[in-house]
Amino acid sequence: LASIKKSHNSYKSTYLRAVLDNDSKSAIRALRGVVKSGNALGLNVDFYQNELHRFLKENKKFIKPKESITKKIYPKDLIRTSQNRFKKLRTKSSTLRLDFTKNISKKDVKQFKLYDKKNKIYRYVFDIKAILPKKIPSARIKGIEKIKIAQFNKQKMRVVFSNSSKLNIGMETEDKRLILTVKNFSVAKKSKKRYDFSNKVVVIDPGHGGKDVGAIGAKNVYEKEIVLAVSKRIEEQLRKKGIRVYMTRRSDRFIKLRKRTEFANKKRADLFVSVHANAASKRSSKYRELKGVETYFLSASRSKRASRVAQKENQKDMEAMDYFGKKNFLHFLNREKIIASNKLAIDVQQGVLARLNKHYNGIRDSGVREGPFWVLVGAQMPAVLVELGYITNKREAQNLTSRSYQKRIAQGIAEGIVRYFTKN
Ligand SMILES: [Zn+2]
Repeated sequence: LASIKKSHNSYKSTYLRAVLDNDSKSAIRALRGVVKSGNALGLNVDFYQNELHRFLKENKKFIKPKESITKKIYPKDLIRTSQNRFKKLRTKSSTLRLDFTKNISKKDVKQFKLYDKKNKIYRYVFDIKAILPKKIPSARIKGIEKIKIAQFNKQKMRVVFSNSSKLNIGMETEDKRLILTVKNFSVAKKSKKRYDFSNKVVVIDPGHGGKDVGAIGAKNVYEKEIVLAVSKRIEEQLRKKGIRVYMTRRSDRFIKLRKRTEFANKKRADLFVSVHANAASKRSSKYRELKGVETYFLSASRSKRASRVAQKENQKDMEAMDYFGKKNFLHFLNREKIIASNKLAIDVQQGVLARLNKHYNGIRDSGVREGPFWVLVGAQMPAVLVELGYITNKREAQNLTSRSYQKRIAQGIAEGIVRYFTKN
């Protein structure tokens, strides 16, 4: 056990180093180690699992073929004789209706249940004597975590319902139709717990102000004005949830970067959220097209994109750089705080995306990123910087000046913060 613990810790630090070095391949390898050893130790590795998932999504070339209980068989391998074929699928509230080319009876379906102890997931498997077309259908039932459909072997297709709570699934047949109904549907839904946030303190930091206007966008939109408007709405949303909120500024005035986190430290804040809007570089060929929401946490990362955004946000306050000093910078990077900030960034980004996607089309998720932002350096608590969108993009500038959009993006940020508090 001691040796697993040791390798667990060493994987963790390898992961952090890889994150700081922007080395996805090592990060993925280390994360796999963290998850495996963490599972062996019975630790909660949800965060690392999510991180692994995120890295794999961003770096598809490193994905190992996954072991699966459903094997993929290509249609050309199938015997194209008298077998029954799947025709179409319809989902209606908690019911899946599968139509076939021929009559189907209960004898054609084998049903069994599996419990995946490691992931604490129940799987309900239906093996159906039929062949799927080339284009595998997909199904979703709200409240059920996953439904997977695949060709299991040359004779059978397989439908698997995966869920972390038990399900009761009924089966009926009607001529060429198979009907699967989740019966305890309301039970499968997660119940909402009530939390008390009255002891939580959040500092919201509207970027720039006064002589520092920040980025200037399409239609002469100023970053300092947009971020103040949105920040006030975040404050309002958080207060509604009972969270205590302080703002680094509530009017158009200049504040040094260093003073912003000093303020948060003095207030003993649990979280620090700096709010900004992005602008494309005038030299960029995509000057008008660039758009998207992104959330940053502090690291020494020198990726091109992070450096550019950080430079833009840092430039009006060189004093901060002298104060924190290039050498001391790394001294402020503490492992636990980076991990917590990374978690917060993930929750905030997801909160914003979930909220905006409910109301708008074409919202771009530019993801969670890391970079050397001076405004985050002095914070003694988890700290993130949200870039609400590109004000150099006409559409996003328009969105960000509209009251309803400002309210929704603020709501999304507040929801992300609440999610972070409830999870941690
Ligand atoms: Zn800014």
